[in-house]
Amino acid sequence: MTKVVKFGGSSLADANQFIKVANIIRSDPSRRYVVPSAPGKRFPKDTKVTDMLYACYDVAARGGDFSAMFEAIVARYMEIVRGLNLKIEDRLTREFSTIRMSFMARAGRDYAASRGEYLNGIILAEYLGFTFIDAAEVIFFGEDGKLRLNHTCGALKERLAEVKAAVIPGFYGSMPNDTVKTFSRGGSDITGSIVAAAVGADLYENWTDVSGFFVTDPRIVPDPEPIKTITYRELRELAYMGAGVFHEDAIFPARQAGIPINIKNTNRPGDDGTMITESAPADLNPYVITGIAGKKGFVTVTIEKDMMNSELGFGRRVLEAFENNGISFEHMPSGIDTMSIIVHKDEFEAKEQSIIKALQTTCSPDKIEVDRDVALMAVVGRGMRAQRGTAARIFAALAHAKVNVKMIDQGSSELNVIVGVTDEDFETSVKAVYDIFVTQKL
Ligand code: ASP
Repeated sequence: MTKVVKFGGSSLADANQFIKVANIIRSDPSRRYVVPSAPGKRFPKDTKVTDMLYACYDVAARGGDFSAMFEAIVARYMEIVRGLNLKIEDRLTREFSTIRMSFMARAGRDYAASRGEYLNGIILAEYLGFTFIDAAEVIFFGEDGKLRLNHTCGALKERLAEVKAAVIPGFYGSMPNDTVKTFSRGGSDITGSIVAAAVGADLYENWTDVSGFFVTDPRIVPDPEPIKTITYRELRELAYMGAGVFHEDAIFPARQAGIPINIKNTNRPGDDGTMITESAPADLNPYVITGIAGKKGFVTVTIEKDMMNSELGFGRRVLEAFENNGISFEHMPSGIDTMSIIVHKDEFEAKEQSIIKALQTTCSPDKIEVDRDVALMAVVGRGMRAQRGTAARIFAALAHAKVNVKMIDQGSSELNVIVGVTDEDFETSVKAVYDIFVTQKL
């Protein structure tokens, strides 16, 4: 049995958290490959080391005096090292002087940010007695800046075969010219997923500061229930609609290799957390639905034209007006003589005049209407397909909460129902649906 374990920034924010992490790793010998993030926030108003590094580098790159900012970063690490009683201060001092010189030589923002994980990796490896492997030696990007997954997996597999247990820092790799490149923010999740795929792990554990995914956003429903199991497809629907916790691009490598992912809580290691798998029986979850997510800030553009349904190529021309302006659409509910295109508000408004003009010239509609007050709520669940009356219950709950439904779109997969409401009604809608399916277990 082999597990790859990734620990997020809050799990490694200070010496105390490092101790919890080490206990988790030592309690299970199959936890052999460890991917750390950089130290995160120790308290809500704290600054993540990654953000300190970006800010410090920006000053250095402008030729400013970055000493004080740099020393604040050094202090974060020294505090951890002393708290753990590790005798590697000399080593870190050497590392910091290299980093400082590289900042002065303008080694790049990606290099700067990556040092957060790099240094944390050195400390954690030392503390655990594991081998440290610099991600720059095993994670490769191509000229186009995209991850070279096969090449990377090959290199990782070879390198990891030589060691019993290793720490591989998250978030970065190297370009063909040997410069450092990072993934997008939160990208240590991706590194963990790649390492899991490379070694053919049985499980990829992703340790964070919450006990997995919740059925909905705790900022809307206080103390929501956790999700026990979720399929990759459900997660994608929820993540796309705004559910955070796990980097979207981190799904692919593990999923492709058939490796389940377990989201766990470093501060409550006894909690089951959430299991993400390719497929799972719906009855593993106590509710018909798996999750509710959503976002505000959409616009509906409705195009009306008599006899639209019989006009060949009409839909294509409508979509072209958006495509030619570089706008991708979210949903497209349509009627006999109307078509509505739902798009992100900020993207649309930046191109509004040119889109409307294109619609007018290529489609000659009777009317174009723009509704700028649309929030979308996604109710997702693999159990919905088998359960009669799910949609009826969603809409009854919304009607009861006095929410006016603007749009309905049931995905063809029967995995989700998307409901458009006003921005103002968004929270009420989420609460109403949560209440009926989860609190009342209907
Ligand atoms: N430290 C990086 C960030 O803050 C990457 C990560 O934590 O996954 O985005």
